[in-house]
Amino acid sequence: MAQLELKSKVLSILEDKIQLIKRDEGAIYLVGPIRLPVNLYGETIVFQWYCWLQCDEVTEDYDRLIDSLSSMNLASFQQSSVLVYGDFQGEEDAMIRMHSICHTGDIFGSKRCDCGYQLKQSMKMITQHGTGALFYLANHEGRGIGLFSKAMAYILQENGYDTVDANIDLGFVDDSRNYDEAIEVLKALRSKPVTLITNNPRKLEALKNAGLPVSGRVPLWGDTSEFNENYLQTKVKRSGHLEAERTYSND
Ligand SMILES: [Zn+2]
Repeated sequence: MAQLELKSKVLSILEDKIQLIKRDEGAIYLVGPIRLPVNLYGETIVFQWYCWLQCDEVTEDYDRLIDSLSSMNLASFQQSSVLVYGDFQGEEDAMIRMHSICHTGDIFGSKRCDCGYQLKQSMKMITQHGTGALFYLANHEGRGIGLFSKAMAYILQENGYDTVDANIDLGFVDDSRNYDEAIEVLKALRSKPVTLITNNPRKLEALKNAGLPVSGRVPLWGDTSEFNENYLQTKVKRSGHLEAERTYSND
């Protein structure tokens, strides 16, 4: 009985924070919002954080979902999430970034790519804009090849391959990233169009084709920010490596 009471208490706390998004196959369980104060360039900014899980089973009995968590071995798989800022549902104009996970760039601050910088800078752009969302896509490592394969691709790149050939010669297509889940989550959080933060017009087209309601695109690299001054100087100093560095980008 005590066990049951504990269980129903957990469920009563969580059930209002779980949203079921039914799909053609299975469903996405979206959990949040969760208040997440973030250190952004030394300033504390409060985001609303959501995480999601795609499952084959479709159920509104969240007790079942909660019951299965401990046996799902979720820590061995990456889950994606989204940081939301401002009145994302209601504001006419919102910026979003679909950020592909980059273990080396985002976590270690690797200079082989510009992902870490893009991550922080897009968060800053979203907060300055007033409303937006940063989708952190966990199955996008190395444009979809995974971290272990990316390590091999980096070794190939050290031996004269470019990033595209490295992926292809390891048996992958160059870019296997899929945005369908993120777009479903976006639609659950907001129905109005969004402005996409990206330098890559092909990514914009891919997302539009996948059903993302896009009103425009803003590049990530402006020349007005104090934070890209160093980056721009580095590009100049290491101009011989510029093309090679740029091609490592996940974007
Ligand atoms: Zn990267």
